[in-house]
Amino acid sequence: MDRRRFLTGAGLFLAAGGLPLGRAQGRAPKGVNGGGFYRFRVGGIQAVVLSDGQSPPGPLLPNWGANPELQEAFRRTLVEHFLDPEATRNNFNPVLLDLGEARLLVDTGRGAGSGGRLLAHLELAGYLPEDITHVFLTHGHPDHIGGLVDGEGRPVFAKAEHLMGRVDLEFWLQNPSPAVQRALVPLKERIRPVEDGEEILPGVRAVASFGHTPGHMSLEAISEGKRLFIFGDAAGHYLLSLRFPQAYLAFDMDKAQVVRTRARLFQKVSEERSLITAYHFPWPAVGYIRREGEGYAFVPAFFEF
Ligand SMILES: [Zn+2]
Repeated sequence: MDRRRFLTGAGLFLAAGGLPLGRAQGRAPKGVNGGGFYRFRVGGIQAVVLSDGQSPPGPLLPNWGANPELQEAFRRTLVEHFLDPEATRNNFNPVLLDLGEARLLVDTGRGAGSGGRLLAHLELAGYLPEDITHVFLTHGHPDHIGGLVDGEGRPVFAKAEHLMGRVDLEFWLQNPSPAVQRALVPLKERIRPVEDGEEILPGVRAVASFGHTPGHMSLEAISEGKRLFIFGDAAGHYLLSLRFPQAYLAFDMDKAQVVRTRARLFQKVSEERSLITAYHFPWPAVGYIRREGEGYAFVPAFFEF
């Protein structure tokens, strides 16, 4: 049935005392699937994953599994898990931790000029940029720092204290990419360097997870005995980096180090049965990591409304 005939049919339906025309036609949804945010509790902390959107579909290999000798195994595994190696979307998942007194944003997305949806979804979740009291950057890649400044180079989270691992901050200021020039350099006086293990808010501490970049940092939040580990890019790809212990990404800068870091952190969160979130995992990117064979597997958390 084409649309014209459907509408005629709907009109007849209405004339016959059916539903109002608007309902028969359906209405456009007000937001994206899931609203672009996912709220859940970690003890006394309200956590929110905020989607910065998705990339258009693109090839997964070798970007998300770069070991030359594993390309065929990677491809087979992707197909087995219903992922198209030639056309898969990438997710970008900044996280907000609302501690009541403080609201900490972990990573800032790609920036509005690059299709970033973070600010739109932040507002849908009930927050404005000026509500953010702390911004933590896991590392200096463009999809994590791009949302720090607006189109005029002004800080987006103007009232926030900005924090970043000292090693990564020093590295990127000494080796500035175009994104670093645009988004990080203008704020460098405002960014406080953080060390491994430092508690940046009550119950929230930085955890060194070097390798993806020279000084990549993850965050661990513990509240009322509940745990959330925020990987950033230390987790890599949700399937390949977990299943293949030796896997690395094309954009992992120190490949040997990142393999060791992932082994250490996957073991830690699986033994602790900690809830985790990772920046490029499938939306809403909240779940657990469990041992499986020689490697690990991602188990999504039960979705709660
Ligand atoms: Zn990234």
